[in-house]
Amino acid sequence: MARVFNFSAGPAALPEEVLTQAAAEMLDWQGSGQSVMEMSHRGKEYMGIHAQAEADLRTLLDIPANYKVLFLQGGATLQFEMIPVNLLRGKASADYVNTGEWAKKAIKEARAFGQVNVVASAEDKHFTYAPAFKDWKLDQDAAYVHYCANETIGGVEFHWTPDTGTVPLVCDMSSNILSKPVAVGKYGLIYAGAQKNIGPAGLTIVIVREDLVGQAVPTPPTMLDYKIHAEADSMFNTPPTYGIYVAGLVFQWLRRQGGLAAIERHNIEKAGLLYNYLDESKFFQNPVRREDRSRMNIPFTLKDASLDEEFLKGAKARGMIQLKGHRSVGGMRASIYNAMPVEGVQALVAYMKEFETRHG
Ligand SMILES: *Cc1c(COP(=O)(O)O)cnc(C)c1O
Repeated sequence: MARVFNFSAGPAALPEEVLTQAAAEMLDWQGSGQSVMEMSHRGKEYMGIHAQAEADLRTLLDIPANYKVLFLQGGATLQFEMIPVNLLRGKASADYVNTGEWAKKAIKEARAFGQVNVVASAEDKHFTYAPAFKDWKLDQDAAYVHYCANETIGGVEFHWTPDTGTVPLVCDMSSNILSKPVAVGKYGLIYAGAQKNIGPAGLTIVIVREDLVGQAVPTPPTMLDYKIHAEADSMFNTPPTYGIYVAGLVFQWLRRQGGLAAIERHNIEKAGLLYNYLDESKFFQNPVRREDRSRMNIPFTLKDASLDEEFLKGAKARGMIQLKGHRSVGGMRASIYNAMPVEGVQALVAYMKEFETRHG
């Protein structure tokens, strides 16, 4: 059976090596006579898998010792709520940067818990750029500053890290975590749903500085309190065990690729192939400001939108799926996370050239 090149924004493609290993271990994980799915989360086999996954993630991202790693559920969307519940710390307001669809959702949810100040916004240009740091109207008394490092829908990525001084920096890295090295120490909290660039849906990763844990609103709902999860090593209740296992295999795969610096070079090369072609094409176009283009999610439009369906049909016939753009942007979107091989991007560009020759 031939595998397709899957350009889905999420849940997204996983490294084939990881899927092969998970398949080989499906019925009998390392001589235990059971699938990881069937293991007690309190048993020593699973506890080992869980601890190894955390250790490998810490190595990959070089996470300082004073940060907790939490394996949670509820998606990045639940973090839109857990962040204000835990980090407002009695302060009057939090600062948010509005860069598109995901930032807007985070802002909307936080408003239920406190005052949200939108300190910068790219709405004036249809969310096609990352607002320059000098234009952020930050409040030194804000509880935290929240931004989205990569807008999965708009295809806008921050290629720099804001310096918010003593105000904790909080970042939604759902769609670009592990695509490049990150200075974790510059952040108060980083969060990401797993299904874009880590593993199966159902796992959410939170990396939080210890001093920000244990300061939730008075009598928080138990499951929304970081402290509960941190003290229980993410086993207050049953964690998403199989998702953590597959994420752990992905972490090991990333280490075998040479770590995040090597992966970043690979991602620059892959994104460059597609952007270079988009820039020379007279038929396809990407709307994002050059410096802020995402290496992970690349939206593009055809000169004639009535050809969209034909383009998608032809792509599918050539083994390339999930290229339809988000309904709010239209056109196409190629998501090329870590697991997308360079051959997939080459095949897409070759097809686009052929399509342009035929219709341009
Ligand atoms: C997908 C995504 C989300 C939402 O993730 P869920 O796991 O579905 O809650 C939030 N932020 C960004 C940047 C995303 O790409």
